[in-house]
Amino acid sequence: MECEICGKETSTAKMIVIDGSSLIACKDCASFGKEKVSPARVERPTPTDFEKPSFGGEAANRVPMKRVLFEPKRKEFDLGLEIVLDFGKRIMQARQRKGLTAKELAMKVFEKESLLHKIEKQGIKPSDSLIKKLGKELGIELREKAESD
Ligand SMILES: [Zn+2]
Repeated sequence: MECEICGKETSTAKMIVIDGSSLIACKDCASFGKEKVSPARVERPTPTDFEKPSFGGEAANRVPMKRVLFEPKRKEFDLGLEIVLDFGKRIMQARQRKGLTAKELAMKVFEKESLLHKIEKQGIKPSDSLIKKLGKELGIELREKAESD
């Protein structure tokens, strides 16, 4: 075996440590370093390094927050308001006061003139939204509290 320090062939080589590096040294050179006596210690990873991630828990306990509330759209009629009985007459009179033709008023509320004529003749009861539009356009109230008997 060859001494790694002096290069001399030796039969009594020793493992020594000089400045942290291991070298093979002859008997004469062994004194330059520290003789390596104990075998290198193999560091074993601790079992905690291999801990398994925990599953379950949170996800299982999660409560769905999405709750669908199905509340029917409340109509004003349900609050006791009903279209006045003489709505046709009121609409016609209010329209004439404003100097509007049936066609002009129909255009303002985005309805057909023929429909407005029918409403004024009480042939058709206007829809909830149309009552509001007509009332707003003519500045009149076409609804009143329903009489309960
Ligand atoms: Zn040597």
